[in-house]
Amino acid sequence: MEINNHILTGSKVKKMVPSPNHSGEFERGNLDSVIMHYTAGPYQTSLRTLINPSVRASAHVIIDRDGTITQLVPLNLQAWHAGKSYYDGRSGYNRYSIGIEIVNSGYLTKSGNIYRAWYGEAFNPSEVIEGIHRNQTTPRYWHVYTPEQIETAYEFVQLLIDTYGIKHILGHEEIAPKRKTDPGPAFPLDRFRDRLLGTTRDQDGADDLPDTGRVIASVLNIRSQPNTSGAIVASPLQRGQKVTILEEHGDWYKVSVPITGWVYAKYIDIT
Ligand SMILES: [Zn+2]
Repeated sequence: MEINNHILTGSKVKKMVPSPNHSGEFERGNLDSVIMHYTAGPYQTSLRTLINPSVRASAHVIIDRDGTITQLVPLNLQAWHAGKSYYDGRSGYNRYSIGIEIVNSGYLTKSGNIYRAWYGEAFNPSEVIEGIHRNQTTPRYWHVYTPEQIETAYEFVQLLIDTYGIKHILGHEEIAPKRKTDPGPAFPLDRFRDRLLGTTRDQDGADDLPDTGRVIASVLNIRSQPNTSGAIVASPLQRGQKVTILEEHGDWYKVSVPITGWVYAKYIDIT
């Protein structure tokens, strides 16, 4: 990926879909943050919303489930993604930040063996993780992000750091904690900013766990528990396959491919 004159190009970048929902250029010196969001809906409907002039919302880019990225607003202009927001002594984060939407359905409601988004779409258990949101106290079900989305997010934010001197990476849930739950616990936000910025904000969320890796064994069993007596949960992973690493337990990693299960860590090469 490359940024030329505030427009993103590259093999993962789709044709720009301009949104009218933005203000003028950032004031000099203001742009220093990135805000991570989920769309809470599928790509097409989310894109339509973010370019609809009557909705008055947008983001700079949207990352689809396959890791492709579509730009809506040039990176030197203020998109409308943060809304009423406050963090670290500043309010109105549209003035300070690039907004990144990632296609993800947010929290899901379980009924029987299926999980439903607020708009009715159903998901299999393999597309769901259970986790406690940083602003909540009880676990809920959350739609997983794909390894391709996480990889694109890393690549794009690294480029923003190099191009614009970004110093802060925050979740919408952190700058508008009463209103917002995105990107939620399925997104590895603490590791993401720790690896990109080398800073640790959140003591309990921080660890040295890598985020993504690749299978280096020719085939690799994926199991329900971090030991060889755990039931095999899906057909074996193949050499070269990308995984998102969620947890570590002894010699094992819990991974999302996006089916979630445990694999031997020594057969995963960290990317
Ligand atoms: Zn948001």
